[in-house]
Amino acid sequence: MNKFKNEIHPFLVVLRDQGKEKKFLEWSFPDHFNFFKIMVYVGIFATIAFIIPDFLKSGLNKSLIISSISRTIFSIAVYLMFVVIKRVNKPVVFHRLLFILSNLITINITIVIITMKNHSIIYSLSEIISIIVIYVLLKQRFLYSLLSAIPASIVIIVSHIIYGDLDVPSLQTIIFAFILANLIGIIYNRNINISSRKEYLSLILEQKLNARLEKEIEQREKFQNDLLEIARTDHLTSLYNRRFFMDLAAQEIFKSERYGIPMSLLTIDIDHFKAVNDQYGHPEGDVILIEFSKKLKSMIRKSDVLARIGGEEFILLAPNTEMHGADILAENLRHLIEHSSFGTKDNIKITISVGVAQFNNGDTLADLMRNSDKALYLAKNNGRNQVIFFN
Ligand code: GH3
Ligand code: MG
Ligand code: MG
Repeated sequence: MNKFKNEIHPFLVVLRDQGKEKKFLEWSFPDHFNFFKIMVYVGIFATIAFIIPDFLKSGLNKSLIISSISRTIFSIAVYLMFVVIKRVNKPVVFHRLLFILSNLITINITIVIITMKNHSIIYSLSEIISIIVIYVLLKQRFLYSLLSAIPASIVIIVSHIIYGDLDVPSLQTIIFAFILANLIGIIYNRNINISSRKEYLSLILEQKLNARLEKEIEQREKFQNDLLEIARTDHLTSLYNRRFFMDLAAQEIFKSERYGIPMSLLTIDIDHFKAVNDQYGHPEGDVILIEFSKKLKSMIRKSDVLARIGGEEFILLAPNTEMHGADILAENLRHLIEHSSFGTKDNIKITISVGVAQFNNGDTLADLMRNSDKALYLAKNNGRNQVIFFN
């Protein structure tokens, strides 16, 4: 907790950073206000209740009426202030009104001292309590409490000396008690001001650390996902790579085997791609591969697994697709590519050869890939730009 010592001014007991001090007052406002609410009710009750000892002491006379009116006005003023603070709902206004309220307490006490004759030492007890109340009420503003309680003490003592009718020993006792009350008040108020500010500082420090931690975790997760993505995909076309395809395909084969779902595997190879590279250059070949991949991707289902397994060789696993469906799919792809143009100038024509294999129960992934590869080989030998089924 001592690490915040330098952030708090030792005499003014405020945060050195003014912005932080303002935020602190906002943060502590709801709690402080609730505390104030209780104090208001207790204070009003005590103020009004004191009309009874007033009456017992002096009977029904002019000074009782004046002090009762003063008590009532004080109570109404306090209550109105409470209503205003509740409405305005702003810590700065709250603290200023509290300061005014403290001075109102002093004025009220002073009026009572001046008007009431035969002032009992019992009354001075309530005056001393009032001083402590000021320190307690202003528990978020050390300077306000000093500026309010010390002048109040002086005004009250002076009015006792000038207008009061206490004897010298009683007066001395009261002065001593006032000094004590102020000392206790100062110690209490300073302590609570410091500790609440420290609590606030440690809270915002904790929030800051938490935010940083969350951000770090987020970054780490993103980094992990990126790594996973890199490990799964082919860097040029962003399709799945061969390794990830093997993992996914193994799972699909397991499902087909278990539930008897049909499945087809298409091996797709661009025809004479070496010649395309030779004619237009390798970078242009790359552009074609990227565009080609996008075209393939646009044609397939979400459940289909498309991967680049070699330079210009692609593989497409189509779950839940039997012979006829695979035929349509392969022909559509072949047709689409034949009638598309590629390259940065959109002027390059390419064709593909496709080998298709059908999954039969008991087939391994290797069997399936070998079969479609054989079909592809036949398609190439047959003159390219065609689809051949393995049987
Ligand atoms: P075929 O019709 O028999 O498939 O003829 P082909 O020329 O397509 O076949 P071959 O396997 O002889 O050559 C494949 C060519 O693909 C070789 C290489 O120049 C090109 N190639 C492979 N990977 C890449 C790549 O990442 N970028 C580019 N631009 N070209 C590639
Ligand atoms: Mg080729
Ligand atoms: Mg090839």
